Amino acid sequence: MIELRDVSYGYKSDLVLDKINFEEEDPIITCLWGRNGAGKTTLMKLLAGLNQPQSGDISVMGMAPYNNQEARRNICFIQENQPFNPDWKVRDTIEIAKGFHPNWRKETEEQLLKLFKLPLNKKIKALSKGMKTSLQLVIGLASHAQVTILDEPTNGLDAVVRKQLFKVMLESYENHPRHILLSTHHINEIQPLCESIAVIHNHKILFHQSIDDLRSRGILLTGDQKVINELTENMNILEKENLGHMCRVMIDDLYTEEWKRTSNKYNVTIEKADLQDYLINITNDTEEVLA
Ligand code: ADP
Repeated sequence: MIELRDVSYGYKSDLVLDKINFEEEDPIITCLWGRNGAGKTTLMKLLAGLNQPQSGDISVMGMAPYNNQEARRNICFIQENQPFNPDWKVRDTIEIAKGFHPNWRKETEEQLLKLFKLPLNKKIKALSKGMKTSLQLVIGLASHAQVTILDEPTNGLDAVVRKQLFKVMLESYENHPRHILLSTHHINEIQPLCESIAVIHNHKILFHQSIDDLRSRGILLTGDQKVINELTENMNILEKENLGHMCRVMIDDLYTEEWKRTSNKYNVTIEKADLQDYLINITNDTEEVLA
């Protein structure tokens, strides 16, 4: 479905993506996570055919997307600040978008318009940030493009609307499976939706795996420093905070029943680390966390 092979891209002398390999064969909802500036938008623009890789190959539904109208009929890319014409009305913007997407579903369009209560007769320049995000989502999801790429799709949406949106998105995906790639720098906002996750860091894909497997990684231990030092000897410590003779550490391991039993035995408090904190820590290149 989508494939990047040894793809590199940079701006002038700044390398952003260095020989990236990434592949999804089947319809799936994937989260692309990375810190600000990691290269998520750059990767998405390459996949959407807006930019040409400086080396390597990209294939979307078997076609190289750059400068390829046929390949781009399978793709809907919605950027974080989509450059809509500010003088168009919401209604016209949707009509024009329809023309680019042969799989457009009226049913999804209507469901989302109802959910977001978008004012169809308002001009783009009169929309709030949340309304613009909503319009982007109407187009992205109603397009039913085989490869739907949404850059930071939930920015500006409140928690209630976000929850309803996820319901519509999952329903639409289950009825019409396709590849949906969502980027975020905050995993907690979109993780209920995603089946797989790719983390982009230091110009590479650090890992690409099932999100269920990732959810069980990262343990927080709080207790006596000496005991914790012994328990975590030879472990990958992601974060450490000393509190008098006590300390709290985050370790890179699976949150298992065995760990719970061990902690109980040694009177150490154990918690599952928050997924976002875990990702921040594994992409933290400074040494001070280990001090
Ligand atoms: P992300 O989406 O993960 O926040 P981007 O792909 O937007 O990251 O940016 C990756 C890097 O490329 C950043 O350092 C950013 O400043 C730089 N960059 C992005 N677009 C351009 C551009 N048009 N010209 C020069 N540098 C850019």
